[in-house]
Amino acid sequence: MLFSQVIGQQAVKNRLIQSVQHNRVSHAQLFLGPEGSGKLALALAYAQYINCKNRTLSDSCGVCPSCVKMAKLSHPDLHFIFPTTITKKVKKEPESILFLEEWRKFVIEQKGYFNANHWYDYLGVENKQGTIYARDANEIIRKLQYKSYEGEYKITILWMLEKINPTAANKMLKLLEEPPDKTIFILLAEEQEQILPTVRSRAYLVKIPKITDSDLLHALMQHFDCREADARDAALMAQGNWIEALRLFENSEEEKYNFQTFQQWMRLCFKVSIIELSDFSANIATIGRERQKSFLLYGLHLFRNGLLFNNQISKLVRLPADEHDFHAKFASFVNGGNVLPMVKLMEDSILHIERNANPSILFMDTSLKMVKLLKMKV
Ligand SMILES: [Zn+2]
Repeated sequence: MLFSQVIGQQAVKNRLIQSVQHNRVSHAQLFLGPEGSGKLALALAYAQYINCKNRTLSDSCGVCPSCVKMAKLSHPDLHFIFPTTITKKVKKEPESILFLEEWRKFVIEQKGYFNANHWYDYLGVENKQGTIYARDANEIIRKLQYKSYEGEYKITILWMLEKINPTAANKMLKLLEEPPDKTIFILLAEEQEQILPTVRSRAYLVKIPKITDSDLLHALMQHFDCREADARDAALMAQGNWIEALRLFENSEEEKYNFQTFQQWMRLCFKVSIIELSDFSANIATIGRERQKSFLLYGLHLFRNGLLFNNQISKLVRLPADEHDFHAKFASFVNGGNVLPMVKLMEDSILHIERNANPSILFMDTSLKMVKLLKMKV
């Protein structure tokens, strides 16, 4: 990763770059900062810069053999420790090295920006928390015995120091106290209180602040072809957290699409315009299964809301203002007689989409059933 790919954080980047330029890279550093501030992205850019054969005053070259391997996270002198847990694939004694392939793929896909829940979701574990085990520390001790492959620094990035168990922490402490030659440890953490004071005191603290609103805004405008006003809203609400900014921004685009498309769909169902419904189905067939599913889920959510409106408990319905009016109006067509079949219809359609049904046939069929349900009285 290049420093130029890290969102904002120019002051931190400058400090890290200068530490390399002046040959004052501390062998153990603790990057402490809130979620979405870019700790992992900074650590990756820093590691790449340290071992780059052709670095400039502001960034790695990106093309030397070291940079190429660093970008793929496959550099033999780059090591990772991160929380793991039992999964379908690893049924006992989990440790980082057993998940290295998944880790590399995920970090590259996410460009270094994700939280612990994203990682656990990616591993397919629900409600399980990961841990950094003594096995992880042993593996690093074993790897660091050998000379570095390229004669450069051996860099270990430890993600989520909060998740280290006491035995592993003790082993890491010994390593930090008497580090092998030319090794660097970059420890990443969000919660200062959850870190053992003994570990904290042995690492040089690099505080990573929240990303500024203007850096977030700039990055959103760069990543998406969007109106400045939309990006500004997301940037402000995200409060310095790039992961949250992405989530807010992507959701708001999708929500808007779902709302408008749903309005259009219901209008056509009321009109019972078969030709237009057929065009509608052909159109929605082109947006991809994930979006189709998201659209149907939105519909499902709406029918459930419809029931709440009718039961005079509209305070329970949480919606943006412009959608609220439509929902209130729409709710009058949802009644005790048709709401359950409507919910069932949406659930079945979602299931069919998941099972790779032909989307244009599916949406046409669902539309015709919806036409009938809307006409149903209590
Ligand atoms: Zn390079």
